[in-house]
Amino acid sequence: MFDAAALPDNAIEVRGLKKTYAASKKSPAKTALKGVDLIIPRGSMFGLLGPNGAGKSTLINILAGVVNKSEGQVSIWGRDIDRQPRDARAALGVVPQEIVADVFFTPRESLEVQAGFYGVPADERRSDELLAALGLSDKANAYVRALSGGMKRRLMVAKALVHNPPILILDEPTAGVDVELRRQLWEYVRRINAEGVTIVLTTHYLEEAQELCDTIAIVNRGEVVACEPTTQLLRRLDTRNVVVTPEGELDRLPTLDGFEAVARPNGAFVVTYRKGQASVEQVLAAVRAAGVTIADITTEDPDLEDVFLALTYGDDTKPAPTSD
Ligand code: ADP
Ligand code: MG
Repeated sequence: MFDAAALPDNAIEVRGLKKTYAASKKSPAKTALKGVDLIIPRGSMFGLLGPNGAGKSTLINILAGVVNKSEGQVSIWGRDIDRQPRDARAALGVVPQEIVADVFFTPRESLEVQAGFYGVPADERRSDELLAALGLSDKANAYVRALSGGMKRRLMVAKALVHNPPILILDEPTAGVDVELRRQLWEYVRRINAEGVTIVLTTHYLEEAQELCDTIAIVNRGEVVACEPTTQLLRRLDTRNVVVTPEGELDRLPTLDGFEAVARPNGAFVVTYRKGQASVEQVLAAVRAAGVTIADITTEDPDLEDVFLALTYGDDTKPAPTSD
């Protein structure tokens, strides 16, 4: 899809990236990125996974050039964003988290204007191809304000691609997109990835990242807490929770041999174990050995919060999980 000359190994390299938003009248200064190192290999389908407020959009917006970094180095397609800002940004197509629609243009006009903005010559433009690829052909001449949220988002994807960038970044692309359109969007994203475009997407859904991405970086509170191939990460996250409701009320959480009990509402507590290393039976034996009579048990697979605990537990530089 793009000029294959002098391809860099990595699409994006981020080193020691820090961002502190200055204090305003309404809020104190906020450090959103605390020193992020990240390598995004060329050709990958890369997921930035983390809860709201983790710093994902801040990172994307620094790459896109709409937020200034406080410290650190960023290189996009082998070009440093401080030394070659224009060339660095030309390698990116960015679909921001918020939907922005040009109400005065039709989708086709909107793409033509964007192509003009990037200096794409008329005979190299591919507005109709992009509209077709994103299922917007029959809306090509409609008013943008008549489009649904999902259509506007797909138009934003088309706009991000008018200059044929080798990297496409999608910030929370499924927000406001219904299931069918989401499927079409993913199909398209997978196709251009297969054609060689590096894809970076942010999401706070573990399932979405795990279904789409070959590599996942987990971001939490401005730090990358894990970054590895999806299959490897999922193996590491091979945890399960056992939620125990004790008979009667406990004075305090039981001290378990080999496990940790964490409080849950209504007198219950939860024990997390690694599937490869322990079993429900072992957990229950430890609970009984601590003198607890069990009224009820349920098991659950981990959600994002458990993932962070599993990844940061046992690391001396981070606090161990505590009850909440
Ligand atoms: P995410 O995209 O992962 O939800 P953000 O990058 O949007 O996270 O936000 C990270 C942190 O930075 C949050 O605490 C957020 O409140 C703060 N933040 C984001 N944008 C601004 C801003 N323009 N001014 C001040 N604080 C901000
Ligand atoms: Mg965000």
